[in-house]
Amino acid sequence: MSGRLAVVGLGPGDARWLTAEAEAELACAQALYGYLHYLDRVPVRLGQARHPSDNREEDARAAAALHHAAQGAQVALVSGGDPGVFAMAAAVCAQIEAGPAPWRRIDVTVVPGVTAMLAVAARAGAPLGQDFCALSLSDNLKPWDVIERRLDAAAGAGFAIALYNPVSRARPWQLGAAFERLRRQLPATTPVVFGRAVGRGDEDVTVTTLADANAVTADMATLVIVGSAQTRVIPRPGRCALVYTPRAAETVRA
Ligand code: SAH
Repeated sequence: MSGRLAVVGLGPGDARWLTAEAEAELACAQALYGYLHYLDRVPVRLGQARHPSDNREEDARAAAALHHAAQGAQVALVSGGDPGVFAMAAAVCAQIEAGPAPWRRIDVTVVPGVTAMLAVAARAGAPLGQDFCALSLSDNLKPWDVIERRLDAAAGAGFAIALYNPVSRARPWQLGAAFERLRRQLPATTPVVFGRAVGRGDEDVTVTTLADANAVTADMATLVIVGSAQTRVIPRPGRCALVYTPRAAETVRA
């Protein structure tokens, strides 16, 4: 009998942002796989095997989970945020495409989760209220010049831009270079939101402008939203400013 693999999005961190479907999949799994810090968020249940792995071992983790499911087990593979956004669902698909024929018979379910950009946007107001795009600044899986071209195209097309993976210890300069690139096309006053560890105890959200945006504000747990030329900030006495992009597009200049 071929088993079942649920690729489960845990959301950004707050347990209230875990969907009921995700909770049910976690409860009925016989075995759990995932990056160790994500697995730490899942309550321990008697009789459920846990297979934590390191951050960088995504392909091996996906293959191990598939191998286990192919033996007939109910397996859950967890991902932070949404599993389809720069995360494990694509790694699982790639392993199925390249893997042994029996893996194609496994019942695979992808369970969506609240992705980081939506959590950060919600904290700030509505910076993604009009057309937007998401980019990962990690150049582990794509060359930097592709990232630069996509930044240019996104800013030129008037999208607000959500930047995942802005920095890491191995990638210290990319976010600063991305801000430089965006300053060529966007007004200095363009709002920028830094959302760090949103939904967790050490959450921090700050709003600044593209002129003042400093890459050292971000770490691996930060998602950065750079507005479009239309994004606005509403200051409020005694409350955080609201950042929003109006739903109606201004006529794009030729
Ligand atoms: N699948 C995840 C993204 C994985 S890439 C999702 O859908 O959210 C990892 C990046 O996501 C981090 O570098 C950071 O940019 C962002 N991120 C994940 N959790 C976050 C959180 N709680 N607050 C802010 N950014 C977060």
